[in-house]
Formats: sequence, structure tokens, C-alpha cells
Amino acid sequence: MGMQPKTPQFDALLQPILDALVPHTRTCRQKDISKYCEGDFDITETDIEFLRMFRVPPPPCCPTCRRQRRYAYNNPVHFYKRKNDAPEATMNIISFVPPNSPLKVFDYEYYLEGDWSPLTYGKLFEKEVGFLEQLYTLRLAVPQPAITRDPSNINSDYSINGKNSKNAYCSSAVFGSEDIWYTLLAHGCREIMDSQAVRKSEQLYNAVRSRSSSQCSYIYFTQDCINSHFLYDCRNCQDCFGCVNLRNKRYYFFNKELTKEEYNEKVASMKMQTRSGVAKILPEFWALVYANPVKASRNENAIDCSGVAITNSKDCTHVTDCEKSEHERYADSVIGHKDSMDIYGTGGSELLYETSGVGSGCSNVKFSAQSKNITDSEYILNCRQCDHCFASVGLQNKSFVIFNKQFTEEEYYIELDRVKMILINSGEYGELFDFKFSPFAYNGSFAGISYPLSEEEIKMLGALWQPDVDSEFGGIATVNARDVPDSIDDAKDDILDKAIICEESGRPFRIIPSELQFYRRWKIPVPIIHPYRRMKDRYKYSGAGRSYHANCSKCNVELETIYSDQENWILYCDQCFQEEIL
Ligand SMILES: [Zn+2]
Ligand SMILES: [Zn+2]
Repeated sequence: MGMQPKTPQFDALLQPILDALVPHTRTCRQKDISKYCEGDFDITETDIEFLRMFRVPPPPCCPTCRRQRRYAYNNPVHFYKRKNDAPEATMNIISFVPPNSPLKVFDYEYYLEGDWSPLTYGKLFEKEVGFLEQLYTLRLAVPQPAITRDPSNINSDYSINGKNSKNAYCSSAVFGSEDIWYTLLAHGCREIMDSQAVRKSEQLYNAVRSRSSSQCSYIYFTQDCINSHFLYDCRNCQDCFGCVNLRNKRYYFFNKELTKEEYNEKVASMKMQTRSGVAKILPEFWALVYANPVKASRNENAIDCSGVAITNSKDCTHVTDCEKSEHERYADSVIGHKDSMDIYGTGGSELLYETSGVGSGCSNVKFSAQSKNITDSEYILNCRQCDHCFASVGLQNKSFVIFNKQFTEEEYYIELDRVKMILINSGEYGELFDFKFSPFAYNGSFAGISYPLSEEEIKMLGALWQPDVDSEFGGIATVNARDVPDSIDDAKDDILDKAIICEESGRPFRIIPSELQFYRRWKIPVPIIHPYRRMKDRYKYSGAGRSYHANCSKCNVELETIYSDQENWILYCDQCFQEEIL
């Protein structure tokens, strides 16, 4: 295969390991230190096919521990004010790196254009130091960007990643969208508040995994709906309220047909402009959802796949949130991807193994994180537009670099062979670097949402724990949740000058002017729950990158589901759901 590097000594040591591979059971290295560890895990025929394709030895950790580690390299929502370590900087900056991180953090502009070079940190690999130790020393020395955002985004300081967007506030992965607040993953949207995984929609509030809809609130798994509220898995509905599994309906109220006049009267009586009104509707709505069957897998057009939330994909096994992909294994949150294993958060790439946030035209990359447009590289972090790089941090437009040291092409392969030979002999070759390399606190990362842990458990993993900090509100008047007007009609502009104390977490948060305008326009009461808490809570309904085993409530076949609290749901397999609902 073309992907085999020119490393004869390393290959001579690796080949017998690959040749000897047979299906077997292993014990995870993290067994006694990770709460979610599977303990013993199987290396199957399919695993072996992939391992041979990538030319890597079998992983020392179980699939869950591997996934948990990858998730720790993503920060979906947490912003902090922190020190700027760029030379002569005096002001605090907005950053997704927490203030107590040991990394050297530069503001993004200085990181991109400032007077520093990653190659000045280059050093030859010293066997005595140890591979991960030396790489971690490099990690601490090379500056880390305070945030990553695309230059195509306008007025989106408090947002992470995404592209071609305008006015995205406290949001991440917003693509081709405008006026987005507190939202994770939006494609081609306008005016979206408090939502997750929405596409081609406008004027939505509290929408989860929905598409092609407008002027709706509290909608879940819903498509092609207009002017409707509290919908679960509805299609092509208009003027519907509190409905589940409806198709092509109008003027339905809690799954019952009404006349237009009756419907309008009913909806007005629910007082959606007040928090007390919404608080009464929600339990009634969820009771109706729980009384109806739901599609357990949330898969659509998943051919020869296993996993959940798979759409238009083929031959993908043990995956979650997989779209337009083929031949993937242990892949989570991937789109337009193929021939990869153990990957998270990537698009438009191929031949990746043990990577997190490595995407946009990447090919043949292993054990790496947070890099774009990379080919034929291993153990890299924060790199862009590189090829043939190994064990390096913060490179851009580079080739033939090892430990941030530049080599000629010829020297590169000699040094690469030397380093990889040492690695395979010591048993270190073959996995993503550990938690402490992540710029994020575990409890501020996606791992903290999918696999929540206590402070003590986080520290036991060697990951960073960051207490909540709200330093930006020093000196601002606060208002208790109970004193925030119940109705949006009574909310005055002075709410913008105060920090609201979150009813659940006690953390203060502020409302911004464009946000208040949105609430007024759509008659939505001012929230009294901290935005991070709201974002985290939405994962309860959307699935959080995990898959659970259950049985179909109708035919009893074994199935996989996004739903964790299984007693609440009537879970149907794809076939039973299809027969009953569509
Ligand atoms: Zn494990
Ligand atoms: Zn069934």
C-alpha cells in the first residue's frame, strides 16, 4: 500500500506483530482508573482488518476509554476569560482554554500572525527522556491559540470553529448561518436560539436535531414544520402544538385535531410568553412523548451499519453521529468520511486512526488532534497544512518535521525510522496522547458531557479540572431568578445591565441586546438558567455521542439507541417504527 512509510527498521519490528494478529480478548490499561472502562475487550476480525490497513499494533485501551479520551479534545461550549501569554499583552482574553491550564496561550490574532515560530522549539528526540515526556515538554513550550475560528466568520468572537457565519454568539460549529445564539452545530440557518444540530431552518428556539423548519420552538427530530411548538418527530406539519409522530397535519393540539379557531384559542391560553406557562406545558408534552413509540436508533439510510444517529452511510460499525460516510469503525461526529477508525469530530477526510478534531482534507493521519489539511503524519497537534510531520505541535505549511525540528526529506525518514523503532520497542507506539495534552478542562469538554466525572475522578485520569469562574461579572448588579419577570411583556431593558443568578447552578449570566430582541419578537420569556447548563441539558434529548443497548418494545429484537434513560421511552426498532408511524 502507498501509505507505508520508508522506515525499514520499524517495519521489520511491526510486521511480525501484524502477522500474528488473531481475534483475542485484551484487558484495558485504564481498567482500575477509569469509571467507564469496559475492562476486558475484544479485538475482532474487523478490528484486525483495520489495524492491518493502518499498520498499527492493537490498542492498549478499550473502545470506551479511547472514545472518552478523544472527546476530551473538544470543547463545545465553555468560554473563559484568561491571561494572554503573548508578549506585551496586558488585557485578559476570551478563550476556550481554561485559566488554570499550564499551556502558554496566545490570543488568536497573535498566534496566527505574531512574531514567533514553532520551529524554534525543535529538538532531537532523546530516547532517555521518553517519547511522551518529551512531546509533553514540547506541548507546554509551543504556544496554544486562545480559540480557533475561521476568518470567514464575522462578529462571532464568542464562537468556536464553523465557517461563513455572521453574528454567532456562544455557539460552536456554525456553518453558513446568521444570528445564532447558544447553539451547537447549525448549517444554513438564520435566527436560531438555544438549539442543537439544526439545518436549513430559521427562527427556531429550543430545536434539537431538526431541519427545514421555521418559526418553531421546542422541536425535536422534526422536519419541514412551520409555526409549531412542542413537537417530537413530526414531519410536514403547520400550526401544531404538543404533538408526537405526526405527519402532514395542521391545527393539531396534543395529537388531536381542532378547528382553526379552537386551535388558536387553545394555544393562546397556554401563555407561552411566560415561564410559568412553559413550565406547565413541558411535563404534559413529555408525558405524551413517553406514551408514544420513538425510533430508538435515530438512523436513516444506514446500510450495513451498527450504531446510532447514522444517516446516508454504509459499512460503518460502532459509530454515533455519522453522516455520508463509508467504512468507518468507532467513529463519532463524522461527516463525508471514509476508511477510518477511532475518530471524533471530523469531516471530508480519509484514512485517519485515533484522531480527534482532525479534518478538512486530511489523509493518513494517526494519533493526532485538532489539525486541518494534514497528510501522512502522526502524533501532531494544532497543525495546519502539513505533510510528513511527526510528533510536532503548532506547525503550519511544513513538511519533514519531527519534534518541531526541520529535516531534509532524506534525513526525515532516517530519523523517523529511529524514533518509531524506539517507540515500538518500548510498546509506546499506537495510541493518541493522553488527557493532559488537551487544551481543555475535562469538565469543560465534550467528554465531561458524555462521560461525566467528579473532580477526583478527573484528576485520577490525569486530566485537567477547572472550577467554574465568572470573573467577568465583577461589579455588575445581579438579579435573582425569581425577580426576573415571568412574562416577556414585562421584561424591561434594564435586564441587560444585570447578571441573572441561575436558578439551578447559582452561576451568574447575562442577556445580550440581540438576544432580548429575539425573545421579544417571538414572545419567549427571559431564561433563568445559565446558558451552559441549558446547552448541557439539551444533550439529554439529542444523544451525547454514546450508544446504549436495549430491546424493541414491540418485537423485542436487540437494538442500539441514543436514549440512556430507557425506562422512560417506548423504544422501537427501525422496522417496527416504520410499520407503525410512516
Ligand atoms: Zn477501558
Ligand atoms: Zn421491533
